[in-house]
Amino acid sequence: MPKSSELRTGTLVVTGGSRGIGASIVRAALDRGFRVAALSRSGELPSGVESYADRVTARACDLNNEAHVRECLAALDARFGQIRGLVNNAGIHRAGVSSRMKSDEFDLLLQTNAVASFKAMRECYPYLKRDGGVIINIGSIFETLGAAQNAFYSASKAALSAMTRSLASEWSRDKIALLNVAPGYVATDMNKEYLERPEVIDYLRRQTLIARPAYAQEVGELIAGLLDLDLMLLTGQTLRADGGHSVAH
Ligand code: NDP
Repeated sequence: MPKSSELRTGTLVVTGGSRGIGASIVRAALDRGFRVAALSRSGELPSGVESYADRVTARACDLNNEAHVRECLAALDARFGQIRGLVNNAGIHRAGVSSRMKSDEFDLLLQTNAVASFKAMRECYPYLKRDGGVIINIGSIFETLGAAQNAFYSASKAALSAMTRSLASEWSRDKIALLNVAPGYVATDMNKEYLERPEVIDYLRRQTLIARPAYAQEVGELIAGLLDLDLMLLTGQTLRADGGHSVAH
């Protein structure tokens, strides 16, 4: 993996960079001097990045549209700066009693969180392999914790950590390091109402070592901090960023 100073000369692609954890990753990476392209369905720039106008861009790109992803990455690499890193953060959540989960919801969950995430890595690979690079996938501790009503979301995130291991084995020869970072509960639009329930507040107080959900900003700063390191010794690993949730579970 190249030095972080080299990564800063190229583009860091952050999927799902318009809101939530992705937006925080974009802000924190900009604070650390990276040049960042935020992809999302809406194509909106995250708030608070106005002062970095020369180093940040946003593109509307539905990751479930393979041709569009390919075009978008090619245009970024040619016109905004050589792609050196990918934070594969875009994802959706659906919860529900598994026996009643509709097939189209199940398909969309796996398609977005696992299949589209794989394709984003595959489409970035030709750019990353030129001079080495880094991929950080955003998983979830649900990939290992048993969580009722989350069978399909958990499966989609388990697929992502499995891909991280396999692709790390394939792409280390290209000096590409891969890491899967698995947060616990993070307060974002994804679970706003759920995290406001008194019983959930109480559960997190008892079941995490930080006694609360994580904030998106904390996760963003953690990811940007990791991008400053040579991750090759960690390649293929899943790092649980869950405030001790899985330790105390
Ligand atoms: P949000 O719902 O707040 O944001 C999701 C982001 O992903 C948005 O930018 C959205 O774009 C983008 N996105 C979703 N689908 C697509 C798509 N098909 N193509 C392009 N962009 C897409 O989610 P969070 O910030 O909470 O979650 C981010 C990641 O972190 C997800 O992978 C999630 O599974 C994971 N995670 C979240 C946790 C949590 O508690 N919040 C815990 C553990 C993991 P747009 O704005 O256009 O809709």
